[in-house]
Amino acid sequence: MALRDASGITKHFAGLTALDNVSLTIEAGSTHAIIGPNGAGKSTLINVLTGRLVPDYGTCSFDGQSLIGRPPHAINQLGITRVFQTPELYNDMSCLENVTIAGLARRDGSFRFNLFQAPKRLGPERDHAASVLEKVGLGRFKEREARLLSRGDKRRLELAICLVHDPKLLLLDEPTAGMSHHETMSTTELLRDLKGEHRTMTKIVIEHDMDVVFALAERITVLHQGRTIASDTPEGIRNNDDVQEAYLGGAEL
Ligand code: ADP
Ligand code: MG
Repeated sequence: MALRDASGITKHFAGLTALDNVSLTIEAGSTHAIIGPNGAGKSTLINVLTGRLVPDYGTCSFDGQSLIGRPPHAINQLGITRVFQTPELYNDMSCLENVTIAGLARRDGSFRFNLFQAPKRLGPERDHAASVLEKVGLGRFKEREARLLSRGDKRRLELAICLVHDPKLLLLDEPTAGMSHHETMSTTELLRDLKGEHRTMTKIVIEHDMDVVFALAERITVLHQGRTIASDTPEGIRNNDDVQEAYLGGAEL
């Protein structure tokens, strides 16, 4: 079953065509990478998929429901979560508090939570948050303030904040940007092994690092100047002449 279908997506910015008739099918439970040189339209496509931008033309659906015209929070409620390029954390709070608060927002609706309610009422949320921290490899840092984490661990914490909502679709925008080689390798491993609570989580990854892309993705869509030039398995993408050409002089493949 196709979890997500985008068809004929076109988006202009003042005369510039950022997306030109882009179609995309994402299989439920798969990891799908979107790659392409700078300015190819990757971020614009993600912004359309998460409701931040309304396309000029085209349709886009998730589990059979149209996403066009739905505001970002409504799309979020359908189970679509985006991990931002820059972590957005409460820096002076512990990792456990950061994830617990995110979980409360899920329980009580968007940010209608009360930080000062009796701690024992937070028991289940704290336990759940702790288990999510374990899952992303931050179990030993539960009580550590977010600001004291390394860059890579901050990304893990942000991932935990997304996972506490048990998303059906997780969008990762350059998850290893700015990481050391070691952090990149461990994050790639973590993302590869990550399954949702129901083991059907779908992942869309935008990534420059081709080692990460080929380690994670089951399918790869290549954008170039707002158009899809290929959508194939990693093997097919490696051997695709159009892709090679699009990358000549640009990013390595
Ligand atoms: P990528 O993420 O692949 O690097 P983007 O989707 O950010 O590419 O951008 C695609 C094209 O659209 C680029 O030429 C970019 O300059 C342009 N663009 C993106 N967002 C805007 C915007 N809000 N206003 C005007 N032009 C934009
Ligand atoms: Mg971008």
